[in-house]
Amino acid sequence: MKKKKYTRREFIKQNSLAGGAFLTLGATSSLFAGGVKKSDTPAILGGPAVRSNGWPSWPIWNPETDEKQVLEVLRSGVWSRSKTVAEFEQKWAETVGAKRCLTTVNGTNALVCSLANLDIGGGDEVIVSPYTWIATIQAILQTGAMPVFADIDPETFQIDPVKIQEKITSRTKGILPVHILGLPADMIRIMEIAKKNELVVVEDACQAWLAEINNKQVGTFGDAGCFSFQNSKNIPMGEGGAIVSNDEEFMDRCYSYHNWGGQHGSVTGEADSGRWVMSGTKMRLSEYQAAIGLAQLERLEEQTLKRSTNAEYLKSQIKDIPGILPYKLYDHVTRAAFHLFPFRYKKNEFKGLARSDFLSALRAEGIPGSDGYTTLHDQSFLGHAFNSKNFQKMYPQHMLDLDSFQESNQCPVTDRICNEEAVWFSQQMLLADKSDMDDIAMAIEKIYENAEDIKNRI
Ligand SMILES: *Cc1c(COP(=O)(O)O)cnc(C)c1O
Repeated sequence: MKKKKYTRREFIKQNSLAGGAFLTLGATSSLFAGGVKKSDTPAILGGPAVRSNGWPSWPIWNPETDEKQVLEVLRSGVWSRSKTVAEFEQKWAETVGAKRCLTTVNGTNALVCSLANLDIGGGDEVIVSPYTWIATIQAILQTGAMPVFADIDPETFQIDPVKIQEKITSRTKGILPVHILGLPADMIRIMEIAKKNELVVVEDACQAWLAEINNKQVGTFGDAGCFSFQNSKNIPMGEGGAIVSNDEEFMDRCYSYHNWGGQHGSVTGEADSGRWVMSGTKMRLSEYQAAIGLAQLERLEEQTLKRSTNAEYLKSQIKDIPGILPYKLYDHVTRAAFHLFPFRYKKNEFKGLARSDFLSALRAEGIPGSDGYTTLHDQSFLGHAFNSKNFQKMYPQHMLDLDSFQESNQCPVTDRICNEEAVWFSQQMLLADKSDMDDIAMAIEKIYENAEDIKNRI
């Protein structure tokens, strides 16, 4: 068989051509039925690929129902925040089980708005997970607060509550746990620590729509929960975000803040004040985005179940392969959102085959994987913030020295996960069929069986 080697870009291109824009999930049946065996020559060395057809593309929509909703907004001429946004907010609050929801331009600004309106700002420290997307850390810096990194638990990929406790100082004002990859962080222990130390908690649930702990959805444990609806997320709108909370006054402040500080609900200002009563900015979602979001919401429950079922199945199929350590969920987790499917790759069990070569071999078999996040706690954007005028005025010099910051913010577990071990599959792969999960498992096994050969010959 002709050697078939995809570069990542070619693969994605092929994938999107094959998948199309529509609801074609049922059509992605497996070609692995063709009879490839794990002992066959790996595709990266010229053997037959386990799989030659693509994976579900993302985002997906239903032209018949979804396009009508967007067209209705277009034809109404009301494109700025109005009843469609309000309807989405009401639905999302109900779905999550929170009293209120406020949408924002994106998840990053949902975090900024939440932190700022929980009185976090210059001089404060916020304890955060180092294993996250850059947005989480930039949101803290935007408020003028100082991020403090507490390392993760390698088995769950989530911030380790023991490490949070160790990082509390007299400046600590809040904790920002991230339900990274869509797997819940240990909110039970995190809330205990927060209560004991009187700390504010903002949950970054930007990857964890409908994930649950003890049947209660993440985003509803802390003072505020933040979500993202960016294009790659499980509820895609292009851009978009939301804050949920049960605290009405806080939500009124958030509303005001996201609307240039205008009066809203309990935010009325003094008796003779005008319409603008607090400092704020503009973070409003548009009607088109909400229309797309409402359409996407219709499918979320079903898709979440499918991802979860497929993830559990895939985990069961790969967990016994030496050197493959799939995610663990905390005991009290009743549902995970699986924005990503993560496992740790131990190259020693694969004859020393580097993770990047493992990923290339996987890709050649028709299975696109990723090595995930790079580290953040040691990056230069922090130094840029520390040198800014505001930080220079708000903190003593010794807190702004990047070398000593890095010294006291070491996260060896995160370093290992980012630099050596993490492998992810994307959420849309989990929307394929069960037999497609078998392809993934087969490809990993095939690479395992042939690791020595691959290592020596590529
Ligand atoms: C996507 C994401 C954000 C930011 O959301 P945007 O809508 O892209 O601004 C924040 N935190 C995490 C963990 C994310 O994955």
